[in-house]
Amino acid sequence: MSLVIMVIWDKLKTPPPEALKPIKGGRLKGMTDISPQWRYQALTEEFGPCGIGWRYEITKLWLEPDGSGLITAFATINFSFHDSDRGWSEPIPGIGGSMYVAKESSGPHTSDEAYKMAVTDALGVAVKMLGVASDVYMGNMDGSKYKNNTPHPKCRKCGKSDHVYKGKEENGGGWFCWKKKGGCGEKWVDEKAPLLTSNQQGNVEGWIAVWNTDKKKGADPKAWWEEKSKGIVSDCGKEGAESVLEKVKA
Ligand SMILES: [Zn+2]
Repeated sequence: MSLVIMVIWDKLKTPPPEALKPIKGGRLKGMTDISPQWRYQALTEEFGPCGIGWRYEITKLWLEPDGSGLITAFATINFSFHDSDRGWSEPIPGIGGSMYVAKESSGPHTSDEAYKMAVTDALGVAVKMLGVASDVYMGNMDGSKYKNNTPHPKCRKCGKSDHVYKGKEENGGGWFCWKKKGGCGEKWVDEKAPLLTSNQQGNVEGWIAVWNTDKKKGADPKAWWEEKSKGIVSDCGKEGAESVLEKVKA
């Protein structure tokens, strides 16, 4: 049973980057706003449609003035999900709030969406008990990025992420698919830069062979590069030329 619960938790815990945006101002500055629509989608994918696989009931709505002119709308809800073996879950309560009358520079501002936002907030609070977006609440995500254990991107060439490492800033940053560790050797700063064509790749190998021959004859790397670089760039492209240059420098 605990396994099943953790399976749900793990499936729901990580919102995709597009469901997150950093909160830029106010008291929650620096926190991350989670798209309610993503929550509904995640719940639907896990439990089925709203009303059949999951449901919520608004149990209370009220306003609380703070005495200085601010009024906050509050909502409590009960969330339940359906399990084919065990039926409806016990209600999971959630409480949320949203500013109804806020002070703004132009005077008090009344929000006609305050109750709706309070309910949305309350629902988010309830479903986080099931793990929904828990990576955000646990502080593992910041804005649309992971703070710790940044998942390494997939290699843009071979598509595997196992051997992708971050390049050192002093070497131009970016990422590389580490050949020594079993990667394909691809390096990139700009994910969208064109990959080498097979023709260019062949030319890179050809030019490296030329360099190795000339090196044996005592060629000076700098002079050799100055003489050939134009042709190499036109044969291999800018990125390909860089791999040739690396061999020359080595
Ligand atoms: Zn690779």
